[in-house]
Amino acid sequence: MKSEKKAVVVIGAGPAGLAAAVALKKLGVEDLVVLEREDAPGGILRQCIHDGFGLTRFGESLSGPEYAGRFVDEAAKLGVDFRTGASVIGLDAGRRVTVATREGLVTYEAEAVILAMGCRERTRGALAIPGSRPSGVYTAGVAQAYMNLHNRMVGRRAVILGSGDIGMIMARRLTLEGAAVEGVYEILPHASGLPRNVAQCLDDFGIPLRLSHTVVDLRGSSRLESVTVARVDENLIPIPGTGREIPCDTLILSVGLIPENELSLQAGVALHPRTRGPLVDEFFRTSVEGIFAAGNVLQVHDLVDFVSLEAENLARAVARHLAGSLPAGGGIEVRAGEGVGYVLPARVGGKEDFTLSLRARRPDRDVALRISHGERIIKTIKFRRVLPAEMLRVQVRAADLAPSAAGSESRRPEPLEVSLTC
Ligand SMILES: Cc1cc2nc3c(=O)[nH]c(=O)nc-3n(C[C@H](O)[C@H](O)[C@H](O)COP(=O)(O)OP(=O)(O)OC[C@H]3O[C@@H](n4cnc5c(N)ncnc54)[C@H](O)[C@@H]3O)c2cc1C
Repeated sequence: MKSEKKAVVVIGAGPAGLAAAVALKKLGVEDLVVLEREDAPGGILRQCIHDGFGLTRFGESLSGPEYAGRFVDEAAKLGVDFRTGASVIGLDAGRRVTVATREGLVTYEAEAVILAMGCRERTRGALAIPGSRPSGVYTAGVAQAYMNLHNRMVGRRAVILGSGDIGMIMARRLTLEGAAVEGVYEILPHASGLPRNVAQCLDDFGIPLRLSHTVVDLRGSSRLESVTVARVDENLIPIPGTGREIPCDTLILSVGLIPENELSLQAGVALHPRTRGPLVDEFFRTSVEGIFAAGNVLQVHDLVDFVSLEAENLARAVARHLAGSLPAGGGIEVRAGEGVGYVLPARVGGKEDFTLSLRARRPDRDVALRISHGERIIKTIKFRRVLPAEMLRVQVRAADLAPSAAGSESRRPEPLEVSLTC
C-alpha cells in the first residue's frame, strides 16, 4: 500500500473542503491534499441547478454549480492538489487516512485532518413508514441527482413528505418538468425549511403545504400506486379516521439531514447529542488532537455562504495549529438554554473573540437572545422573528466574558448560556 506524509488532508471537496483548501493555500500551507469520492469537486452544489446561492458572499444569486465553480477555479489557480474518485474509508485517532482509489489503497499520515464530508439524508427506513416496498420512493437529494445530473424523470404524480428545503425545491422542479405535485405534507405545525422556499417553490406554483400531516401507508407492488396521509395530534401521532388515500407514482422524502459520521466515529471523535456532528471548540477542533471539522458534517447549514465562511475560519485555525500557535483547548462550556435547539461551539477558551451558531427550538416572535456568563448577561439581541430553519450567528467578544466567571487554576469556569425568550 502506498503511503504519503502530508501537512493537511481535507476529506470532501464540497463548499467546505474547497473553501478550507483555498484559504489554507492563501495562508501559505502548500503541503495539502483534498480527497473527494465523486469524479468532480463541488459537493452537493453540483446537483443544485436552482439559483439563490451566494447572496451574502458575492451579493448575487448564483446557481449551485456557479457558486462551487468560483472556488474550484480559485483552487485550480492556486494549484490545490485534488484527488477525485478517492473515497476515504478509514481514519484513526493518529490521523492516518486510508483512501480507496482506482489505483488501489493509499494512506496518508497527516499533521491535521479536516472533516468536510457533508451530510446524508434520512431515508424511509429511519421513519419506519408502514406499507409495501414498491419502487418510486426517493429521498429528495436522490431525486434531484437523477433529474439534474442524469437527466432522468423520477415520476409523473408526486407527493412530498417533509417540508425541508430540498423537498420544496424538488416540488418546484417536478412541477417545472411537467409532473403533478399533489402536495407537501409536514408532520410539524410549521414548515421546516426557509420561508423564501415556501414562497418561491410552493406558493408561486400553487402547491399546497399541509402542516400537521404525515404519510401512514404506502401501496403498490412493483411501482408505488398510492400513499395514505393522515392528520397528526400535538404529540405527532396520526389521528384515527383522518386518513386519505392519494394516487401517485412517486413519494419524495425530505425529512432531515444527518452529518456524515462514519469516519468521525472511527477516529473516536465525540459527537454533539443534538447536531450529531462533532463537538468542537471555537477553533473547530474536535475532541481528537489535530482533527478539525466544518460545513454540513459539523452542523447542517441552510446557506452555503456560511459554510464557506466557517471553513475559512477553520483554515486560519489549522494554519495556526501547524505553526504551533493555537491556544490550549477551551475550558468554558457553552450551553443551549431556554428556546435554543443547539449552540456551537460547545466549548471555548474565552481568550479570543468567537462566533456562536445556533438554532431556535421553535418558531417565535419578538424574542430576546441572551448570552449569560455566570451571573452576568453579556449580550442581548432582539429578534422580530426566529425560525428553527434559519441559523443564527452571533459574535462574542472575549473582553465581554465575565472575568470572575472565567475560572482560575483552582476553580472550574462557569458555563456560557444562550437562551431565546419572549
Ligand atoms: C438540495 C439542496 C439544496 C440547497 N439549496 C441551497 C440554496 O438554495 N442556497 C444555499 O445557500 N444553500 C443551499 N443548500 C445548502 C448547501 O448546499 C450546503 O450547505 C453545502 O453544500 C454544504 O457544503 P459541505 O461542503 O459541508 O457538504 P457537501 O456539499 O455535501 O460536500 C461534501 C463532499 O464530501 C464528499 N465526501 C463525503 N464522504 C467522503 C469520503 N468518505 N471520502 C471522500 N469524499 C467524501 C462528498 O462526495 C461531497 O462532495 C442546499 C443543499 C441541498 C442538499
